[in-house]
Amino acid sequence: MKALVVRAPGTVAVEAHDDPLPADLEVMVAPLISGMCGTDIELIDGGVDPMYVRYPLILGHEWVGVLRGDVPGVAVAGDRVVVEGIIPCDVCSECLHGDCNRCAIYDEIGFTRPGGIAELVAVPSRLVHRIDPAVEIEDAVFIEPMSGVWRALTRIPLRAGLSVAIVGDGTIALLAAHLIRRMNPGRVVVVGLREVQRDLAMRAGADAFVTDIPEQHFDLVIEAAGTGPAVRTAIALAARGAMVILLGLPVHGTTIEISPEDFVNNDQILQGSFGYTRSAWAQVVEKVNAGELKPSFLITHRFSLDESEGAIAALRGGVGEHEPRGKVVITVATRH
Ligand SMILES: [Zn+2]
Ligand SMILES: [Zn+2]
Repeated sequence: MKALVVRAPGTVAVEAHDDPLPADLEVMVAPLISGMCGTDIELIDGGVDPMYVRYPLILGHEWVGVLRGDVPGVAVAGDRVVVEGIIPCDVCSECLHGDCNRCAIYDEIGFTRPGGIAELVAVPSRLVHRIDPAVEIEDAVFIEPMSGVWRALTRIPLRAGLSVAIVGDGTIALLAAHLIRRMNPGRVVVVGLREVQRDLAMRAGADAFVTDIPEQHFDLVIEAAGTGPAVRTAIALAARGAMVILLGLPVHGTTIEISPEDFVNNDQILQGSFGYTRSAWAQVVEKVNAGELKPSFLITHRFSLDESEGAIAALRGGVGEHEPRGKVVITVATRH
């Protein structure tokens, strides 16, 4: 099969690769389409904490495929499916409490085991979810990133009417705008860097898009850029009693100075969020299958597997810097 392989940090190419061999309780899936995100760039460049990656690595943690075998009670061969990327051990205390994102044995498709930018991938059958035939694969390809955002937004209950600032203008920020809309917010302001992202942000559900840091403070601030300066901006935008959610994944080793006194005096919550729980994933699949979430309008760049280099360049912003950039996807297979 062909796959997009990072041999070691800095060395990435589409290569011929041995077909995977499904282990016990695993099933084969043939990916149709895979999204790429900033984390893939960090995996290529070696910017991810070594605890969370194993090289050589087949990339791809946001993907939709066609099932090659049956998963009794869930799906049959030929069905289109998505597969939870985080592989839970199901026996550690975190897993037993439903917090499999913090499983004692970290294992994730596209990070520590082969990903979905490949013609075949072997996955645990228990993590397979069927996609309704009416759903477009370009909507379903967002299930992985939406699950991460959904988990962060539902971890601590949010009340209706909150004023919301989202710091960042990449896909995670745009998905955050799209999903927070479902939670009856007050005003939603996206604080971006690139004016060219305005239309996508407004379409995603923002009430306003600004490139200057607003003067006012917000009840909920979502940091979705994953850089030190963006985290500083997010904290500065938080009102008294606010919650700041860190959704972006900064490069390993990033630090910023904070004033703990302000968090105490202002009665604020600073919430990180890692991956997604099994229940967050299931809830997002349910909403996508019900036709309630259709984020495919966020796809701005499409490439074939052989054009993966172009996808990587698009993500790095090397091409079309004056065009809007939402999700970058790779069509892995055209015949199924
Ligand atoms: Zn991603
Ligand atoms: Zn576990």
